[in-house]
Amino acid sequence: MTKPAPRAGWPTPFRPRISASFSYRLHAILAANGLYRRVAARLERAPRAYRAFTTVERVSKERLYGCRMCGQCALPTTGYACPMTCPKQLRNGPCGGVSPDGNCEVHPEMRCVWVIAHERATAAGHGSDLGLLHRPVDHREHSRSSWINYWLGRDDELATDPRSRPLLPIVEVS
Ligand code: SF4
Repeated sequence: MTKPAPRAGWPTPFRPRISASFSYRLHAILAANGLYRRVAARLERAPRAYRAFTTVERVSKERLYGCRMCGQCALPTTGYACPMTCPKQLRNGPCGGVSPDGNCEVHPEMRCVWVIAHERATAAGHGSDLGLLHRPVDHREHSRSSWINYWLGRDDELATDPRSRPLLPIVEVS
């Protein structure tokens, strides 16, 4: 039986079009600072400029990384492979269905995006990023600019090192 083609718009694993090492260098240029924070705050106060800026972000990141505009970008911690292109949109590593050759359970002809993330991050010396724990996606941020959110500090706790803090508060049950 032939497998139906993925439905348009549904997430499918995406192999980034630019290298991880170049992306890390780019990130260093775009790292949050006072100037970017002021620019981001001004853009948020000007709806037309915000929309134009967000369009540029969407078009460029869609083409380079398969971005789906979740508005809370995980790329710097995943070897610049977008976890939102995982058909299950898993942000904390692959599901249990990855095939022994590293392909996706949902699209067996494609490489699992988390395998791609692992290959890219380790090759660029950022393998330890993959141990970070990501908070759940806030879908209210969908279609908003992740660059602006990042510059305004909204991503500060997007991913944490689970070894640096208890995962859950201890609740006494009487
Ligand atoms: S903003 Fe979200 S959807 Fe876009 S590349 Fe980053 S993680 Fe992926």
